[in-house]
Amino acid sequence: MNILIVDDDIVDREMILRILKRSKILCNITEVETVDAALEILNKTIFDIILLDYNLPQRNGIDLLLELKVMPNHKDLAVIMMSTSKADDLALNSINAGAQDFLVKTEINVFRLQRAILSAQARSCLENELIQSHQRTKELAEHDSLTGLSNRYFFDNHLNREIQCHKESNNKIALLLIDLDHFKYVNDNYGHDVGDQLLIEVAKRIKGVLRKNELLARLGGDEFSVTLTNLHDIADANRIGERINEALLAPFEINNKSFISAASIGISVYPNDSANAKELFKYADIAMYRSKHNGRNQVSFFDMKMKEAFLESFVIENTLRTAIDNQDFYLHYQPVIDSNTGKLSGVEALIRYDIDNIRQNPDSFIPVAEKSRLIIEIGQWVILQATKQLSLWNAHYSPQLTMAINLSSAQLNDEQLIAHIKYCLNLFNVPASQIEFELTETALIVEQENSNKIIQGISDLGCKISLDDFGTGFSSISHLHRFPIDIVKIDKSLMPSASTEYNIKKLLTGLVAMIQSLDLKIIAEGVETKDDLDFCTQLNVDKIQGYYYDKPLTINELEEKYLLRKESFKSKL
Ligand code: C2E
Ligand code: CA
Ligand code: CA
Repeated sequence: MNILIVDDDIVDREMILRILKRSKILCNITEVETVDAALEILNKTIFDIILLDYNLPQRNGIDLLLELKVMPNHKDLAVIMMSTSKADDLALNSINAGAQDFLVKTEINVFRLQRAILSAQARSCLENELIQSHQRTKELAEHDSLTGLSNRYFFDNHLNREIQCHKESNNKIALLLIDLDHFKYVNDNYGHDVGDQLLIEVAKRIKGVLRKNELLARLGGDEFSVTLTNLHDIADANRIGERINEALLAPFEINNKSFISAASIGISVYPNDSANAKELFKYADIAMYRSKHNGRNQVSFFDMKMKEAFLESFVIENTLRTAIDNQDFYLHYQPVIDSNTGKLSGVEALIRYDIDNIRQNPDSFIPVAEKSRLIIEIGQWVILQATKQLSLWNAHYSPQLTMAINLSSAQLNDEQLIAHIKYCLNLFNVPASQIEFELTETALIVEQENSNKIIQGISDLGCKISLDDFGTGFSSISHLHRFPIDIVKIDKSLMPSASTEYNIKKLLTGLVAMIQSLDLKIIAEGVETKDDLDFCTQLNVDKIQGYYYDKPLTINELEEKYLLRKESFKSKL
């Protein structure tokens, strides 16, 4: 064992030497008189134990302990402080400064010194283990185990710390949020192992375009972030965003297969957009969605317009919450007319709610309800209300009407949806075949885990599935094949009265022929004029919905006009 004695008093040193020689400890002993001399020798030699005098000339024992803390290569070194004084605070100071033990010189004997040396070594060992395990835990808590990058927890702390530091300077921080396009497709179709490999490769490529002072983190799933600090020019953030996109452009080779994984990037800037970490994050997220919306593989900065839109939807979201609590929603029902008989064949339930007697537009509040997922609760209410109304009409007028109910894509992620539909059908004793659920093409193909299962589940219950707004999106024949579709609703923009395009009638004719060839029923929406109606009847469209017959009606209006009088609209044909 290598022991260093640091003591300026020759008599004390001799005493310690004598005691050490009488002990069972086998040791090489080096003696020095000052802190500086000790430091000099510690730079060259590794020791196991230092027996350190508290009172030394120039700098004392505590000074040496403090120096040792920042010296490398001495992590297994144990220090025993010695003093002639018995004062408790000396012992405490020494332990706090890093000594493993404290001995009063007049009390030192063979037994005490031997025990102190062995227990100081054991303590030093334990302390090291504790430090290492703390570091390992910290590492685990702050890092993503898959990519080795910092994780969300570290990113949050880092961003908050940087904002504090930048308060003094004029420099900016840019926050880039990076979301991979179509990652879910890879995961679902090639398995999680391939997905994981892709994430690792993506992380490497992004890292490759960054300098050292930029923090790259994986926030979870396929979402990464880069925090750029001490930014002088915002254009630098854009350049890095573009570089990341470029780096991801080349295909990734995984398990001998080639994958494309571009990204959508959103950027927010401190202090321009906000001085608050949470807000900066939200704003970068909004900008990232703008990139996705604009066609992916894009970089977008958060801007004032997005902020206004964000605040507006924030206000709408809050009023929707209140509307849910106060049960302010109600339904109107738009007649759907059978083109052969000219009679009412069903209705579409359309949601309504007013603020200060002013009707709110569903095209404005439904998208907010979808984004905030409030649509799940609202949608469940619509299903309950519409089936209840249908059961009342069944009981009073037995007209066998169909009830069309709109479903949002977010509802196709609601695991309770099918159970809820079943519950409503049972509760009100309504046959499933009388209910039609309307979905848009975009809702069908949105990247969600359970949507296919849920659509099939609804169909298996015996309810019908309508494809809404057909002709506005993909108008894809493969969607009509792939999903259990019963009815197609042709969008109002394809009605002759709605379009100035000279060949709109040809387009409509072609679409109708295509749908009819698949034996699907067709409803024409937005039929506003006699010309629209005549053209649709000519094409043998099954059902007609639109202002030509009626706008969406209240329950009383609908009963008054259609159910009590049982009026035929054939005359209008
Ligand atoms: P949508 O499903 O396409 O519903 C048809 C919309 O067209 C209704 O607008 C209806 O009032 C309107 N409309 C009907 N006939 C005509 C016509 O001849 N000409 C014109 N120009 N428009 C006509 P509304 O009620 O404002 O609803 C707008 C959209 O809001 C709906 O479009 C639907 O996507 C959504 N929505 C409404 N109620 C619900 C609901 O309960 N749940 C969900 N998820 N979405 C709903
Ligand atoms: Ca609809
Ligand atoms: Ca529609």
